[in-house]
Amino acid sequence: MAFGKDESLRRHVDSFRQSTAQSMRTPRRTGRKGPPFFVDMYKCSTTETDLIRLVPGDYPQDQLVGEGENIVLEQVIRPYIKFVEHYDGFMEKGAICSAGPWSSFKEKRTPCYGCDIYWETAQRNSEGRWESTRISRQTKYAFSVYDYGAYHKMDQIDRESGQPKINPKTQKPYTNWVKCLGQGCDACRAGVESKVGNMSHWPINSTQLEVLRSTALDIGKSCQTCRSMDNVQSVGWICTQCGECAIDMTTTELKRDEILKLTDNPVQCGHCSHIGFLEEVIHCAFCAGHGQSAVRAGLFDVDLKVKLVEAGNGKSLQIQGWSQPHPVEEPFAKDVKPVDLLSRYYPDTLEFQAQRFGINTQPAAAPAGQPQRAPQTAGYTAPAAPARQYTVPYSKPQ
Ligand SMILES: [Zn+2]
Ligand SMILES: [Zn+2]
Ligand SMILES: [Zn+2]
Ligand SMILES: [Zn+2]
Repeated sequence: MAFGKDESLRRHVDSFRQSTAQSMRTPRRTGRKGPPFFVDMYKCSTTETDLIRLVPGDYPQDQLVGEGENIVLEQVIRPYIKFVEHYDGFMEKGAICSAGPWSSFKEKRTPCYGCDIYWETAQRNSEGRWESTRISRQTKYAFSVYDYGAYHKMDQIDRESGQPKINPKTQKPYTNWVKCLGQGCDACRAGVESKVGNMSHWPINSTQLEVLRSTALDIGKSCQTCRSMDNVQSVGWICTQCGECAIDMTTTELKRDEILKLTDNPVQCGHCSHIGFLEEVIHCAFCAGHGQSAVRAGLFDVDLKVKLVEAGNGKSLQIQGWSQPHPVEEPFAKDVKPVDLLSRYYPDTLEFQAQRFGINTQPAAAPAGQPQRAPQTAGYTAPAAPARQYTVPYSKPQ
């Protein structure tokens, strides 16, 4: 096709969909330093609508590619990160998985007590999926996020004592910037130190990531070059190697979801056999009329209006709209920088996990009257880890 060979028409695609399509299939390895991530994470409002900007970073991420014997580990750079969280329903505590990118391979995964408990208590549920009676093993994603809302400087409170946590060096309480509650906010009434705008990080689940992926498609109808909304149309998709047209929108009989499936994942070119993502060729009516090159806007190019809505036994993310594509402006721009997500979400240590999940890591004889630990689930061998003994039963108390 003519348009495919014309370099000037080749434009950057919205790689957010392509990169997320990959990451949703593959695990990653990461780790944490400093305070637990939930201490200062962004919490999306359930009563008001927040105005936020997702901020892309360059985070190296491990991913597994290939199938069967040929699976290999490779590193990619992503604008956000992926991690696995365990939540222990018995202890009512969570921790970040330390099993690494090979977490689904029993001989290859790195030690993780969360995974040990998971696999020792996992059974197939009625839909044939593995499920633990005690602990979850949930893939999550974390983004750097800037919230344009008001924040208050609040003392950190110790959960056990209910008293402010004191920094031993300064003898003053540790503080956090905490989101203003809006209508009726106590901190507002008390005249606590405030600011507008806060750079933070946002962990989301895979359902919420799907909402962002779907939103990215609609945001992509806006043009970054001329900032017009809903002006961008797809002309077709080409091979990045030879420029041959793979999908011509004027003649293709493919349905929308079939096109997404083809373009969100690497494909083999029928012309040159190159394997890779297809690249989109787009048309913006305004830019075409002004001799400019159109660029599809992406998820990171707009301000988003977001809200969490209680639904069933979870919270569903609602995107209530977005701005024209534009760079973040002053006075906010100076604070808008990606945060170190890799440190924030570093895998928890085995010691920390042992604490959270009530595991006695000291080799000890079972107390009289208590049976020795039950043998592990058939076919599953835990990886090498310090000798330990679970001090709590595996099933959740009634
Ligand atoms: Zn784990
Ligand atoms: Zn307030
Ligand atoms: Zn090709
Ligand atoms: Zn345009």
